[in-house]
Amino acid sequence: MNWDIPSLEELEDIVWKCTACGNCKVAYKFGPPPSFGEICPAGVEFGFDGNMASKGKIAFARGILDGELEWTEEFVEAIYKCTVCAGCQNQCELDHKPFIPEIIEAMRRKAVKDGAGPMPTQKVIAQSMRSFNNPYQGPRRVRTEWTRPFKKVKKPIKNIMKEPAPILFYVGCTGAYNAPARVIPTATASVFQKMGLDFGILGENEICCGSTAMRLGDADEFIRVAEQNLESFKKLHEEQGVNTIVTSCAGCYRAIKKDYKLSDEYESVLNGIEVIHTTDLLYRYFKEGKLNFTKELPWKVTYHDPCHTGRHLNDFNIDKDGSVQWKGSYLGKEEAQCLYDVPREMLKAIPGIQFTEMERIRDNSYCCGGGGGVMTGFGDWAAKNAGYRIQEGMMTGAEKMVSICPFCHYNLNEGAKRVNSDMRLYDLVELLDMVTEDQG
Ligand code: SF4
Ligand code: SF4
Repeated sequence: MNWDIPSLEELEDIVWKCTACGNCKVAYKFGPPPSFGEICPAGVEFGFDGNMASKGKIAFARGILDGELEWTEEFVEAIYKCTVCAGCQNQCELDHKPFIPEIIEAMRRKAVKDGAGPMPTQKVIAQSMRSFNNPYQGPRRVRTEWTRPFKKVKKPIKNIMKEPAPILFYVGCTGAYNAPARVIPTATASVFQKMGLDFGILGENEICCGSTAMRLGDADEFIRVAEQNLESFKKLHEEQGVNTIVTSCAGCYRAIKKDYKLSDEYESVLNGIEVIHTTDLLYRYFKEGKLNFTKELPWKVTYHDPCHTGRHLNDFNIDKDGSVQWKGSYLGKEEAQCLYDVPREMLKAIPGIQFTEMERIRDNSYCCGGGGGVMTGFGDWAAKNAGYRIQEGMMTGAEKMVSICPFCHYNLNEGAKRVNSDMRLYDLVELLDMVTEDQG
């Protein structure tokens, strides 16, 4: 397989398109009334006008490209103190916009290639990927720990390698190995069983999607696992009849939907297979009347948009040949892939739910602080940032926060502890499991 993962050198022209205007500092909502709030977690913590926020990182990229700068400890730290949340990308309106997270990750790829990155604490992830095929140093047998309750009540989950099924539930490493986040695959499988869906898991044979490695700049490790996964998906389609891959993990979803597209064989391998987030799949059944909520949940809730199911899934329209404006100009974005309305509609449909919105939502969502390797590299900062988001949620009068990402789940709950808040983060599928009974 060939992969089109650009180097920093290949992005040099784009790097020079940042005008250092600073518009990426805040989340604008043009109103009425007009409002704005901070959007860059790195800028909030380390100061926007230093080197930590987007425009400072881009300045570093220029320095490295023209040979003025070398990899110092300060520089390496600056490029890894970023959640790659794409908040800055959402604000930028110049031709530089579509490529900002790519440039940040290309800097990381160069740092890894030159032996300067990632951060010492993040090197454990790379080692773990090589030894365990997951970023959590988790032995293979632990990957299926979350399935135990299903075996106990004699509702075992199919091992798709042994028994064919049309739906592969791709669990992801965070749901499998991060103990508090295991509630997410558990609730997902529970809802699927109540609906009578014919699905299976890869169990101990599942390997990481490669998202963490990619975000940290370890392209080789990403490619290694991505190729294995693509080959396995193809085999499952041909031999076990899989035509849907569903995941409850925002990181896996983004990786398979977007990062895997950088392979020249993506289209041919996934021909006949739909990749879908659990929320979207359940929404489809809900709209068809096949998923009904029979219990009440008298909760006041607010919703946090994960970066990976939101603005990371934008499609950017670029004037490639200059026929509309000028060559390489940014013409607009398409949000159709972003999961903004679907989770909100599902939440509001649950009987008893009172829903309120935070200030920074949808494409202006404020990142929980756990992405881009920050949870491992700078855990204290990740939890502190999550605390800010929890406080924003509390200001709405909501008692609980809901999201659709295991990273946000873990990190925002850490943030709640940090600010001594009673607010808890639930995954939407946990709520759906609470309000559904056997649909038979
Ligand atoms: S990234 Fe965009 S918005 Fe931010 S300073 Fe550069 S040009 Fe301005
Ligand atoms: S990706 Fe997020 S954390 Fe990184 S510079 Fe942009 S807004 Fe800041």
